[in-house]
Amino acid sequence: MGKPTGFLETARAQGIRRPVRERVKDFKEFDIAWPDDRLHEQGARCMDCGVPTCHSGCPLGNLIPDWNDLVYQGDWERALEELHRTNNFPDVTGRVCPAPCEDICILGINEDPVTIKSIEKAIIDRGFAEQLVIPRPATHQTWKRVAVVGSGPAGLAAAQQLARAGHMVTLFEKSDRLGGLLTYGIPDFKMEIEVVSRRIEQMKEEGVVFTTNTEVGKDLSTNELLATFDAVLLAGGAEQARGLEENIEGRDLGGIHFAMEFLTQQNRRNFGDSITGAEAILATNKRVVILGGGDTGSDCLGTSHRQEAFQVHSFELLPKPEQVKTSSSHEEGGERRWSVLTKGFRGKDGQVAELYGVEVEWLPPEEKGGRPIMREVPDTEFTQPVQLVLLAMGFTGPVRTGLIEELGVELNEHGAVRRDENYMTNRPGVFTAGDMTRGASLVVWAIWEGREAARCIDAYLSARNGTEG
Ligand SMILES: Cc1cc2nc3c(=O)[nH]c(=O)nc-3n(C[C@H](O)[C@H](O)[C@H](O)COP(=O)(O)OP(=O)(O)OC[C@H]3O[C@@H](n4cnc5c(N)ncnc54)[C@H](O)[C@@H]3O)c2cc1C
Ligand code: SF4
Repeated sequence: MGKPTGFLETARAQGIRRPVRERVKDFKEFDIAWPDDRLHEQGARCMDCGVPTCHSGCPLGNLIPDWNDLVYQGDWERALEELHRTNNFPDVTGRVCPAPCEDICILGINEDPVTIKSIEKAIIDRGFAEQLVIPRPATHQTWKRVAVVGSGPAGLAAAQQLARAGHMVTLFEKSDRLGGLLTYGIPDFKMEIEVVSRRIEQMKEEGVVFTTNTEVGKDLSTNELLATFDAVLLAGGAEQARGLEENIEGRDLGGIHFAMEFLTQQNRRNFGDSITGAEAILATNKRVVILGGGDTGSDCLGTSHRQEAFQVHSFELLPKPEQVKTSSSHEEGGERRWSVLTKGFRGKDGQVAELYGVEVEWLPPEEKGGRPIMREVPDTEFTQPVQLVLLAMGFTGPVRTGLIEELGVELNEHGAVRRDENYMTNRPGVFTAGDMTRGASLVVWAIWEGREAARCIDAYLSARNGTEG
């Protein structure tokens, strides 16, 4: 694995990002590809650790030491094969995965961990550049019909696995474009549009039929779906956004929007869509406040910079963590505040003009296992001039109306779709995967769940056929 002395000879290379001043002028990816000699050296840092913990750190169980070694050997084609063995879309994870594998890389105990994610991205980008990523249609057909609802990473991974297993797959998407949050959530500066669209083309060649602008439970009834298909996979995501308290003063003012409305509009503009008039949500020349300091908030920050906001503040209710995560968007500017409670808004001519709030402190829970207690700090009330407020406070699970209600699938205690160990809901033949059943999570988990659900659906269909396969 790698070079036995590689980690002694070479330090971890940092990712190369386009300079801030340049990258905030467009929506192109901020990462710059590494040259071959650097990848060769970085692959060599992977040590022969006996039990590679990175395998278990990666939700997909990616065969990390194997492809690190192949990159070190210069065998890019085999590295690509190994990469695809466990992951349908390493081009996506290589760009947006937070790389939990690197957190538990053994080298990380007393050195900097191996640059696993950058190597993953390099292998797949080279694979596409050299046209080695080709459709892999099934060699036999089962003639079983499977419907997949939702085209995010869970639905796409499942559809690809099922089509390659010989099933006839139709994927229904309510939106006008495919990709779920990969297309209408994650900003292009983290991952450009082409990454998803070339995968869709590959899957079309593999036989997947895509049907957009079709909301199951509204445009297509679930009864019709169940009558037409032998199995159904629900992969509709966790789209219910967490909002502010209903009775908070000024909530109805213009200029207060959910983060996803703002981010989706920008991705649409990047596609060339025209969004004008009152409908357009833009940060240009405005004082912006983002409520919520997580990844969605960080994406709103980067998007606001690119739209040339006058000033951007990010407010987080929770206390400042010991290790503050600094994303590429944080590098680009903006002011972050923690332990801040927004109490309301005041407006002018129907538009938000001022936010008012107070600082809070967090006290230990009163009983073991309880929640920390929030207390307002006296005399810390403040006001903040603002013209655009973006609500990025997380998601509370899948939308309960329409699809879920009509199908009558049960929810678990977290409000996500309940499933058994075979990814099946309480309705026989109806399976679920991704954020819809996990709650808002990560792309890498969605791909894993899509693959696992596909395996279970395949087993279910084979058993019904009286054959194993
Ligand atoms: C702003 C933002 C940034 C993020 N950044 C990252 C990141 O950098 N890295 C990372 O790992 N994760 C990130 N995530 C999380 C990640 O995007 C999700 O965990 C992942 O996309 C979930 O995949 P999914 O397939 O389960 O659902 P989704 O991607 O949400 O896709 C669900 C799809 O189902 C469709 N759908 C829903 N109901 C129906 C219906 N009834 N009929 C037809 N279609 C339907 C929806 O339109 C949607 O296209 C981010 C999330 C957000 C919101
Ligand atoms: S998918 Fe994520 S966790 Fe898995 S190897 Fe790639 S970067 Fe690491």
